[in-house]
Amino acid sequence: MRLYVACLASYNNGVLHGRWIDASSDVDEMQEEIAAMLRESRFPNVSVKCPHCEGTGKVTFHNSETGAIREDTCFECAGAGKVASAEEWAIHDSEGLPRCFGEYPGLEKIAAFVELAEEFDHLDAEDVATIVDHFGGLEYAETEMRDHFAGVYDSFRSYADEIADEALAGLDPESIAVRYFDYESYARDLKHDMTIVEISTGLALFWP
Ligand SMILES: [Zn+2]
Repeated sequence: MRLYVACLASYNNGVLHGRWIDASSDVDEMQEEIAAMLRESRFPNVSVKCPHCEGTGKVTFHNSETGAIREDTCFECAGAGKVASAEEWAIHDSEGLPRCFGEYPGLEKIAAFVELAEEFDHLDAEDVATIVDHFGGLEYAETEMRDHFAGVYDSFRSYADEIADEALAGLDPESIAVRYFDYESYARDLKHDMTIVEISTGLALFWP
């Protein structure tokens, strides 16, 4: 999962400046990468805290042999503590995010999706995106996945048979109810109640 963040000041000047960054569950991490991209813009319009000296204008050198400490002017900002940067940015492309997110999902939403994909890391992130799209939104999909997810099965029938066998396990195997149990009609009834989402590894099933 990644997104292409572009500098709008560059864009408005007919220059393409931006970079692909990894989608992360940490908004600050994505914001740091965007800030770094904006500082490299050829069309800065604001000054921001120098990331190298963190605004102090000074850097400290440690001599590991003598233990001496020497303070010097920060080369990045020439001691000013501030560096030039562009300010406005936009997401211009993305990969692996749910389609229902649209063009401008915002970092919080992206982070929430990555968190969900990490929580269900036995599924491909693309499959998690497919499930979110099926439910038409992140919040609904989060509830379904956390509270109603039955698992991934090759076919609906294999799931229904498993559930039926569990239900029948406590009964007398010689009883009529067990001997003549209608698996097919049981599966048919169960299917009515459940949500089925086709993903790359099979069928993701959700209880009502
Ligand atoms: Zn500096």
